[in-house]
Amino acid sequence: MTLTDEIIKLKKEKRAVILAHNYQRPEIQDIADYVGDSIGLSKKAMEEKETEIIVFSAVDFMAESAAILNPDKKVLLPTLGARCPMAQMLTVDEIKRWKVHYPLVPVVLYVNTLASAKAYCDICCTSANAVEVVESLNAETVLFGPDRNLAEYVQRKTGKTIIPIPERGFCPTHLLFQPEDVQMLKMKHPDAVVMVHPECTLEMQNVADFIGSTSQMCRYARESNAKTFIVATEEGLLHRLRKENLGKQFILAYEDAVCPNMKLNTLERLYTALKEEKHVITVPEPVAKRARKALERMF
Ligand code: SF4
Repeated sequence: MTLTDEIIKLKKEKRAVILAHNYQRPEIQDIADYVGDSIGLSKKAMEEKETEIIVFSAVDFMAESAAILNPDKKVLLPTLGARCPMAQMLTVDEIKRWKVHYPLVPVVLYVNTLASAKAYCDICCTSANAVEVVESLNAETVLFGPDRNLAEYVQRKTGKTIIPIPERGFCPTHLLFQPEDVQMLKMKHPDAVVMVHPECTLEMQNVADFIGSTSQMCRYARESNAKTFIVATEEGLLHRLRKENLGKQFILAYEDAVCPNMKLNTLERLYTALKEEKHVITVPEPVAKRARKALERMF
């Protein structure tokens, strides 16, 4: 029996569901029940009434969100060390520090934060709905974290004053993209459409034909008549884009744009996680309760 067969067998025996983020390795995406972004996946898990175990192949904060939204299910993260460096950049102390200066200003946090931070915000957002969430608030100034590029994108779109917390939070993978690389690719593929994630720099966003989250990129590629796309986000998304759009060509805007944390998950680790039911991700209830409120407000 292959490892894939073993995983499928175990999954059935244990009434488990496998969720894989868009940045996971192709072989993990292929075996998953659902592939998507973090919040889309957590919502899917909520719909799975018969499921007892969720294996969330991604990084720490995504498994935490799944645990917060699915308190009656066991949430497993295949690799304990799979941590998002951007999420680690915003601590509770940092939020409290900013709140001292801006006590009446609402705090909007990107879901790419730890549960402890979410518990101290007014509302969460994703890169897909950040603009809508900020627009929905009855406030002209907003504290927003942890990604500075996304904060500035929201400021440009809404015209509101967005204060980034921390001052320079970033995703190391999305910072790898450079407009010069896109320009080189455009010389070879002049008709290509350039899709850029809002975690990329302003310079990268300025060369984009389309700016959006991973789920928005998938929809845009599906609905577009274009045949070639230059994509500026983590390379894992290209597997899904190619699978869903046969006949269209997808080129990564920078060939080493890999999130090492996401790639810590392997089929072997997924198998062990399911077999030994580890690593169980839990969030203490007082923190989970507050973080759940911030997530539910977003929904
Ligand atoms: S791609 Fe960036 S934001 Fe996403 S998990 Fe990796 S480091 Fe974090």
